[in-house]
Amino acid sequence: MKKGKKLYEGKAKIIYATNDKNIVIQYFKDDATAFNNQKKTTIEGKGVLNNRISEHILSNLSQIGIENHLIKRLNMREQLIKLVEIIPVEFIIRNVATGSITKRLGIEDGTVLKEPLIEYCLKNDKLGDPLISEEHILAFDWATKIEIDKVKKMILRINDFMIGMFRGVGIKLIDFKLEFGRNKIDGKNEIILADEISPDTCRLWDSITDKKLDKDRFRKDLGDLIPAYTEVAKRLGILHEQSNISAVNVTKLSSIQRKKK
Ligand code: 5GP
Repeated sequence: MKKGKKLYEGKAKIIYATNDKNIVIQYFKDDATAFNNQKKTTIEGKGVLNNRISEHILSNLSQIGIENHLIKRLNMREQLIKLVEIIPVEFIIRNVATGSITKRLGIEDGTVLKEPLIEYCLKNDKLGDPLISEEHILAFDWATKIEIDKVKKMILRINDFMIGMFRGVGIKLIDFKLEFGRNKIDGKNEIILADEISPDTCRLWDSITDKKLDKDRFRKDLGDLIPAYTEVAKRLGILHEQSNISAVNVTKLSSIQRKKK
């Protein structure tokens, strides 16, 4: 598969064309942004870890029948993925209230929700990804009722699976963001899971200590991010104690880079 021209550059990823018009390459950058791009930095090695963690989660999801865009990981930073038409909605799933919902609704931080709560935000950086309702999605044709119902079903299965997967390795899945896209299969548009699932897009707390193992470390200046993401990858069995050369190198590299600055 030949890598072609850059099609799109987002905050954390770049999409490149390939010689197959239905397949693209997703490149994971080291850039970290928060608060709608107001806080920015580069964290050496973040892209490598997110590439591995997202590959692990998406390939596990495809094994339980959740169709997604991942074809295969190509190297440390790139994945081959199916080209989809992204639904312009960020689907937020919350198991425990924290982050924006606590401020918006005055809910106590850490409140365990009786059932998973799905929220919708318009995918629009200029507007700061505003919260929207299902009615907005239908009114402005961002997705059809059939598509939303299918997405909701998929979300609940993904959430159940991921809660169990993380619980098994001593991590609480607090909340996360998903994106879905339309993919033409036999001339018909099918909804599949897209984007990435990683500590950049999930809140992950250690089950015993509530230590934050996700992007909140960067958002809230809680300390280094790479050791936390490496911890998530190790617990998921992606990086083994003896063979975690890439993670060790990534960590060493980032501390060398920091010392040089
Ligand atoms: P909140 O609405 O509390 O800021 O975020 C809820 C969850 O969705 C968190 O796990 C957060 O990481 C994820 N999330 C929401 N919007 C975005 C976004 O634009 N980018 C990323 N990477 N994650 C997001």
